[in-house]
Amino acid sequence: MNILLVAPSGSRFNHTLHYRYTDVGEVLGFLSRKRPQDSLAFIDCLACEIEWSLLRRISEGIDVLVFYSDVSASSDTVRLASMARALQPQARILAYGKGPACIPPFFTRWPFDAVCLTGDPEAALLGYLNHLEGGPVPRGLWCAHRRDTIEGGEWLSPCEWGFPSLDCLPLEDYRRIARIKGIPFELSVYPSRGCSHRECGYCDAPRYEGHRDRRRPPDQLLAWTDVAVHTHGFDCVQMHATDFCAAPDWVERFCQEYRASGCRFDWTCCVRADSLTPALVRQMAHAGCRRIGVGVEHLSIDAVPTACEVKVSLTQLEQVAALLRENGLPGKAYLMAGMPGQTELDLLHAYLTVLRMGLIPRVSTYTPFHHLLGLSLGELEQLDLVRYDRKCFLPAGELPDATVLNLILRPPGVEAWAQMRFAELLNEPS
Ligand code: SF4
Repeated sequence: MNILLVAPSGSRFNHTLHYRYTDVGEVLGFLSRKRPQDSLAFIDCLACEIEWSLLRRISEGIDVLVFYSDVSASSDTVRLASMARALQPQARILAYGKGPACIPPFFTRWPFDAVCLTGDPEAALLGYLNHLEGGPVPRGLWCAHRRDTIEGGEWLSPCEWGFPSLDCLPLEDYRRIARIKGIPFELSVYPSRGCSHRECGYCDAPRYEGHRDRRRPPDQLLAWTDVAVHTHGFDCVQMHATDFCAAPDWVERFCQEYRASGCRFDWTCCVRADSLTPALVRQMAHAGCRRIGVGVEHLSIDAVPTACEVKVSLTQLEQVAALLRENGLPGKAYLMAGMPGQTELDLLHAYLTVLRMGLIPRVSTYTPFHHLLGLSLGELEQLDLVRYDRKCFLPAGELPDATVLNLILRPPGVEAWAQMRFAELLNEPS
């Protein structure tokens, strides 16, 4: 079969490429291993593609067209899929990604033939390709000809996941984007998928990756990554897990294996503050880890609890900052702008507090994906879905756009500006 995977651009604000390696690259890696008889290609509209040439390519003939879509790319995906349907009435058109997982009604309709709703998407996509050749309809997949979904998508064993299919990804474009953004040329791979935490209702990760933490065997992960880094010249690797330290025994094995097998690549990861222990940080620092990002989200300026969900206490964060300092590891603190109940003073206080602790603040926006759950197609069509980008969902109301944008974009002098604005607000009569 002639299969083309397309990632429409959606929000053009930040060009975060991690998901291209993980959610697209790993799916391509899995399918090419399971179906070597098929021809598989990928077009990334975010990186390089002009829609005109994409559609011309589709018009030249395709058996199966698979769209990868997050919520912000949903409208673009439906628009491109509709044009593809007009050009290729016989082609099978599928969709997967956080878009279909979060807003199924937007996708379970014409022009799609099948949409992955639950389970690992590569399992459902493989099932559908086999179904076209006489196999059963896979679970977790909505099918147009049945007009329903067989519940309970399949969660694969991590040994089965593919590794990012780097030959299919436009690496030179990704290198160029990294250069423009002034960041390292970074490979991403899922060491684990899933998150068992339920308290952060706004987060779309568990809905897509599942609620159970599943991890690859460390030896497989390290062997593949070491070769990939040195073959393609990546500067470092993002171990792209919701919480890298959620399974301490696994982290210990990973670090031991890294040292024992003589790996030579640098890597970074994100963790929850309550998963970090002194022993883990020490081992990670001696096993190639070069930076740890910690989810903070919100720190209130008031001692009394606010309406915001608080992920980490000030004391806990101070301990984390000290631990990273002792081990010579830079730390990033991820903050959210626009959480319910958060004031501009809270946001600036959080920004300046983590800076004072020696952490690098990284601000993104509170993006209420959970408000989309349960909406009908008509209601979803009323929304500007392209706004649903975690880096730039500008909160209406409480917070001035200028403050949020300055903290996200970090122009030179932003720290002094934040300090001045904070002092101004403190001195304003209430
Ligand atoms: S914010 Fe972090 S801890 Fe919370 S559900 Fe998402 S990935 Fe899990």
